[in-house]
Amino acid sequence: MQFKDVIGQSAVKQRLIQSVRENHVSHAQLFFGPAGCGKLPLALAYAQYILCPNRTETDSCGVCPTCQKVQKLAHPDLHFVIPTNTTKSVKSNPESDLFMEEWREFTLKNEGYFSDNDWYTFLEIENKQGYMSVRDAASLLRKLSMKAYEGEYKIAIIWMAEKMNPQCANKLLKLLEEPPAKTVFLLIAEDQEELLATIKSRTALVKIPVLDSASIEQALQKRYGCDPQQAHDSAIISEGDWLTACRSFKDFEDHKLFFTTFQQWMRLCFRAAYSELIDFSANIKNLGREKQKELLNYGLRIFNNALLFNNNLSEIVMLPEDEKKFNANFAPFVNPANLVQIAGLFEEAIRQIERNGYAPLIFTDVSFKMIGLLKKK
Ligand SMILES: [Zn+2]
Repeated sequence: MQFKDVIGQSAVKQRLIQSVRENHVSHAQLFFGPAGCGKLPLALAYAQYILCPNRTETDSCGVCPTCQKVQKLAHPDLHFVIPTNTTKSVKSNPESDLFMEEWREFTLKNEGYFSDNDWYTFLEIENKQGYMSVRDAASLLRKLSMKAYEGEYKIAIIWMAEKMNPQCANKLLKLLEEPPAKTVFLLIAEDQEELLATIKSRTALVKIPVLDSASIEQALQKRYGCDPQQAHDSAIISEGDWLTACRSFKDFEDHKLFFTTFQQWMRLCFRAAYSELIDFSANIKNLGREKQKELLNYGLRIFNNALLFNNNLSEIVMLPEDEKKFNANFAPFVNPANLVQIAGLFEEAIRQIERNGYAPLIFTDVSFKMIGLLKKK
């Protein structure tokens, strides 16, 4: 990863670049900051900058063999210590080295932006917390006691350092006190309280602030083609946390999808377009179980809103303008004679999906019943 791929944080980047250019790279640094500010991407870009033989005044070159290896997280002088736990495939004694393939895949896919919980979900460690044990520290010690393979420096990135258990932290502490030559430790943490005070005192603090909202706004537009207004809104809601901004944007996208899908569905029901409804229901498979449920819940919301429209309470309906218009046009077809049955039908469909029912059949059934119910006066 290059500095140019890291969102915002220009002051921190400047400081890190400076340290390399002035030959003042401190051997142990603690990248400390809140979730979603880009600590890991910064550490990765910094490591690449330190290792790249063709670095410029502003960034690593991005194309030399060294950069290419770092970009794949496969450089022999770049080591990772990460929280793990037992999984379906690693049934005992978990340690970072056993998860390097997953780590590379996940980190590259997310460009370094993810939370520890995202990582645990990816590993399917269920409800357990990840941790680093003395096995992790011992393995790191072994690797760092060897000579650097390629460049001058060996770099160890310790992600979520607060997840080290005491044995691990104590062993690492010895390493930090008597570091092997030309080794740089980059510890990344979000919770200082949980980090051993002695570890903190052995590291130079690199404080990483929340992202400024202009950087988030730009990144949402550039990376996701987000429209400017939505990018602006998501950036404000995120309070400087890129992960929250992405979630808000994704929710917005999902919401749009539910609106257009529901609208299409109800139009087919009005037209009693039986064969098209069968196709529609067959395609619903692609949404996946969670979104099928959310679509049905979206429908329930539209039906409930219809009551508000019918009782002249439209001003309390909180929906974007185009959806509100659709909802208002739809409202006359929902009345006391059919509302209870429609709501019951959707609620039952949700229960069936939760019980692993076959979605195309469930949606076909709901569709055909809706044709009749929408005609009820
Ligand atoms: Zn390079």
